[in-house]
Amino acid sequence: MSLPPSPTRYQHFIGGTSTDGHSSDRIERASPGHGVVVSTYPAGTEADALAAIATARTAFDQGPWPRTTGAERQAILQRTAQLIRDQRDDLGLIECLESGKPIAQARDEMDWAAGIWDYAAALCRHLHGETTNTLGDGMLGLTLREPAGVCGLITPWNFPLLIVSQKLPFALAAGCTCVVKPSEFTSGTTLRLARLLKEAGMPDGVCNVVTGTGDPVGQALAESPDVDLVSFTGSTAVGRKVAAAAGRTLKKVALELGGKNPQIIFADADLDAVVDAVVHGVYFNMGECCNSGSRILVEESVADALVARVAEASATVPVGDPLDERVKIGAIINDAQQAKILDAIASARRDGAEVRLGGAPLASGAGRFVQTTILDRVTPDMAVARDEIFGPVLTVLRFRTEAEALEIANGTLYGLSASVWSRDLDRALRMTRALKAGTVWVNTFLDGAPELPFGGTKQSGLGRELGPQAVLEYTETKTATIRLGPYTPKWL
Ligand code: NDP
Repeated sequence: MSLPPSPTRYQHFIGGTSTDGHSSDRIERASPGHGVVVSTYPAGTEADALAAIATARTAFDQGPWPRTTGAERQAILQRTAQLIRDQRDDLGLIECLESGKPIAQARDEMDWAAGIWDYAAALCRHLHGETTNTLGDGMLGLTLREPAGVCGLITPWNFPLLIVSQKLPFALAAGCTCVVKPSEFTSGTTLRLARLLKEAGMPDGVCNVVTGTGDPVGQALAESPDVDLVSFTGSTAVGRKVAAAAGRTLKKVALELGGKNPQIIFADADLDAVVDAVVHGVYFNMGECCNSGSRILVEESVADALVARVAEASATVPVGDPLDERVKIGAIINDAQQAKILDAIASARRDGAEVRLGGAPLASGAGRFVQTTILDRVTPDMAVARDEIFGPVLTVLRFRTEAEALEIANGTLYGLSASVWSRDLDRALRMTRALKAGTVWVNTFLDGAPELPFGGTKQSGLGRELGPQAVLEYTETKTATIRLGPYTPKWL
């Protein structure tokens, strides 16, 4: 794999065609691992966003898609899954170059995304309401599941195709039409996906993509009265803004936000497995992962031994050129993120944490890399124990009792995921019940399947993606109350 000879020039995708939109301004994307421009996109304007919304509105109100059968929707979604698989190498390369993630991981993510499209395709045939037949002889109740309407989908840069695949196929399965706003840093695969959908038979206007920055493009989606639902993945700070803007027109809102996810390790755990899961959990995708296992809580009696093993293993994980097949930790997305990571490490040092490994940038050509870093002897009051870092930085806290572990684990604003490591099943289940998180893993981490719902509690978000109910998030329920037999006047 090598760098492309020239940047790929992309356009918005609106109404089934590619267009430069209303402005000639363009965004240049340089590969985080090499500093070479690999893509250029239109810097979308509010007018571009409004044009895409109008197109999606017409496709919803007058077009065929909301009226197609489940079987027709299933066929198109399945064909899209297959096209993603067919093009996994090309798509993986785009993601590797734009996001800095390792090439081998990027290809795996394309397969994972295809699996989600397959799963959503299956749900197309299972969308139905209910009947209520217990209202007496004279009344029958029905509920109809109807598509929510035009959906605005706003996605971040860390898993571009994967995250749009946690939203778009479920919205389409429900019969909705969409405008997608990918991150300004990683729009390539989302634009390619829109073309694959067209190739798979999707009617024009159903899936539109507008590139550009959050303000104005994402903001327009959140504010527009013609958008019925907005689904956002990104930072908690921007999630609040999106929810506030969406509140002005009272549209439905789904939010997948940050996390400070604890892995709680009891002394009786299988420590060999723990070492692997800790290293994977914190360094996967350079730590730029909302589900990152960035906090480990270790029972005091095994903490020194475990930290030593994790440090030894961390030092062997290959960091470097994302195009290298052997690399497991690639480049950091942008300068702001690199600065945020290094600031968090500096703040931990000031607060008295012990840097057991790394803690500095890695000098490597024009790329942007950070050493695998372990901060030990972190206490719950330190900022680094509470705030999301989004980098290859592990914080280690120690506990003595189950109650103390629980208090530390639940003591942040976030509630996305957590894990419990113990051979004592009673304890693992007690902790699973008491942890405030949308996902709890037991004796594993970063495991899952499209069948399992994903989302956060507290300030990690609203709503659930994946799982059987993912498609229901994109529907409205209509109640039909039907009187049987002669109508009995009630007032006159
Ligand atoms: P943001 O939350 O800023 O961006 C997420 C998406 O929202 C992007 O498409 C962005 O556009 C868009 N956006 C930005 N402002 C608005 C707005 N006012 N209205 C609507 N949409 C908007 O995340 P960043 O990418 O800047 O990352 C910052 C931090 O967020 C990270 O350090 C990390 O902590 C966290 N994060 C969490 C993620 C998660 O999966 N939960 C994913 C990514 C980041 P654009 O960036 O193109 O301007």
